[in-house]
Amino acid sequence: MFSQKVVNVKGLLLGGDNPVRVQTMYDNVIFGQDVEAILHKMRLLKSMGCELIRFSYISSDDKENFTRICSENIMPVVADIHFDYKMALEALECGAPKIRINPGNIGAKWKIEEVVRAAKDKGAVIRIGLNSGSLPKNDKGLSKSDLMVETALEYASWFSSWGFEDTVISLKASDPDITLEANRKLKSSCPYPIHLGVTEAGGTVTSCVRSSWVLGNLLKEKIGDTIRVSITGSIETEVQAAIEILRTVGLKKGGVRIVSCPRCGRHSFDSQGFLDRIQTSLLSVDRNLTIAIMGCQVNGPGEAKNADLAVTGIGRKAFLYVRGELSREVDIESAEKALFEEIDKF
Ligand code: SF4
Repeated sequence: MFSQKVVNVKGLLLGGDNPVRVQTMYDNVIFGQDVEAILHKMRLLKSMGCELIRFSYISSDDKENFTRICSENIMPVVADIHFDYKMALEALECGAPKIRINPGNIGAKWKIEEVVRAAKDKGAVIRIGLNSGSLPKNDKGLSKSDLMVETALEYASWFSSWGFEDTVISLKASDPDITLEANRKLKSSCPYPIHLGVTEAGGTVTSCVRSSWVLGNLLKEKIGDTIRVSITGSIETEVQAAIEILRTVGLKKGGVRIVSCPRCGRHSFDSQGFLDRIQTSLLSVDRNLTIAIMGCQVNGPGEAKNADLAVTGIGRKAFLYVRGELSREVDIESAEKALFEEIDKF
């Protein structure tokens, strides 16, 4: 058995016994965007627990903004490159500590070699990212998962022959079983850190269910060093979902745990709207807290007893509990402010 490799993405270690890292992907082009707004969003995502963020680097127009994004050091930035090896070279020039390429769509081998040698010079990491929809011809009649593994390992061996070992591999398919199979085979065949995800996983519900199943199973088998939950939806939700998966399988402790009322005929308070408004802020609170948001007097006071802090809405009033004891009663409009005051005091 080989020993697992660890790579260093600008101080963030991936692989081996290091924690499983949470990633997301910026959901817009870089060029023409307000860079300050992007940096603000990155800080928010970081406060929620995101550790790596990927950007599509698609043209030289991105250079100025991307250089700034890399230089702020909010969290390591990954450049996503397709087809044009010059974009990979340029992204490395901008300061990207990691790039993601599918060597199969970069073209001639010498172009791939040039990218790999440039990454080596810069001390950058490369993720070989293969999706089941972009594989080479299956001349040997392999199963899809075998073809994915064999292809990735061949690219990794090219990298090794050029003296490059800071490789991460991802094998993604929209089919959960193929993703499971491919990653199990990959783990038993190579020492490189593995990035996990289910590609094109769909909207929030579909993606969270598929990703929880696939990533949860793999993580329980100690497969996976970084994860992304791809959602056709907000990137804050991607980060939240990734962290919930890590918590559920016992790989992440601490942070805010939210208990909330699913609503029934008794609810007299819009617990869903309340939670939607405050969820991102709650997940950015750097404390180990259980917070209950409840919708009526039936379960509200009971759940409040098991939580550090609780809000129970009853009609136009909100009741705040601290360690199970009623602390104050406020108008419903002031509940949000009152809750964050209690968090600050806690
Ligand atoms: S807390 Fe109250 S309103 Fe919410 S689901 Fe339970 S019983 Fe229904």
